[in-house]
Amino acid sequence: MKRVFSGMRPTGRLHYGHMAGALTNWLALQETHECYYSIVDWHALMSDYADPSNLAEHVTDALLDWLAVGLDPNKCAIFIQSRVKEHIELHMALSMIAPLGWLERNPTYKEQILNLQNKDLSTYGFLGYPVLMAADILLYKSNQVPVGEDQTAHLEISRELARRFNNFYGEVFPEPEMLLTRYPKIPGTDGRKMSKSYGNALEIADEMPVIDKKIRTMMTDPARERRTDPGEPNKCPVWDLHKFFNPDKEEMNELAEGCRTAGIGCIDCKKKLIAHVAVNMAPVHERRKYFEARAGELNDILNEGARKARARASETMEEVCRAVGMTRAGA
Ligand code: SF4
Repeated sequence: MKRVFSGMRPTGRLHYGHMAGALTNWLALQETHECYYSIVDWHALMSDYADPSNLAEHVTDALLDWLAVGLDPNKCAIFIQSRVKEHIELHMALSMIAPLGWLERNPTYKEQILNLQNKDLSTYGFLGYPVLMAADILLYKSNQVPVGEDQTAHLEISRELARRFNNFYGEVFPEPEMLLTRYPKIPGTDGRKMSKSYGNALEIADEMPVIDKKIRTMMTDPARERRTDPGEPNKCPVWDLHKFFNPDKEEMNELAEGCRTAGIGCIDCKKKLIAHVAVNMAPVHERRKYFEARAGELNDILNEGARKARARASETMEEVCRAVGMTRAGA
């Protein structure tokens, strides 16, 4: 079985964009691969070090959302990064061989510095973000890493670090392959990319009355200013949600026709969408509620996930220490 690692920074409640993108993909992989899914809390500290007051709550929210969408702790290891200390050990080992130029040239680094100007990111830890990411992946000797197109540069650094380590000390790490995934487009309620920071997100934990309200006020094709104006579904963010949630092709054809001929109003179209979202999200909300009420069970899931992860991680660290001529304490 091929091995996969993937992580998510705990930044609060997850939204439909996460669900349609990364999480749907993770669900499929848990059926076919040995999967390690980690809430990477050290990564959260790299940008939010000045105020970690919400960190614990964000970790719990991520965990609840993962379980709600159907990640199954019997099929994959679900764990918190900081509870598997080998991540930090390997991060240290890789930091020693990571050339500064690679990190400074990393396009995401420059982009984030520009985007997050309200935070002082001129820190050693933030520059080393891709090294910790490489440690996360290589620790499990992952063969494949699911990535979106915007993350390919980071994975390339992980591959280069694996090569560099192997050149210095002998073959320890396989070079992880990219499992490039095309995510369906899930825009936010204002038509921009769905993001919590834009205030346009439909959150996984939102109850149906909240979703109902958000969809009713969602932006549509601007050409449909009046009920009698025809529109074009492909220019409408509501339509992108229909494509994800609506399995009824016949209904979709009727709605598209109705939009283009002004035969239906946007409210009619949105009501249909809301009905499909309700059907799709009912089991998700049910699972979220189930786990919300069971803190003990959540702890067990995390402990078991960390145990599974640690078993693999510790094997790798022993090899790493042997390769560089160290004896690992406790080994
Ligand atoms: S009818 Fe539907 S697809 Fe057309 S603009 Fe209105 S909401 Fe969008």
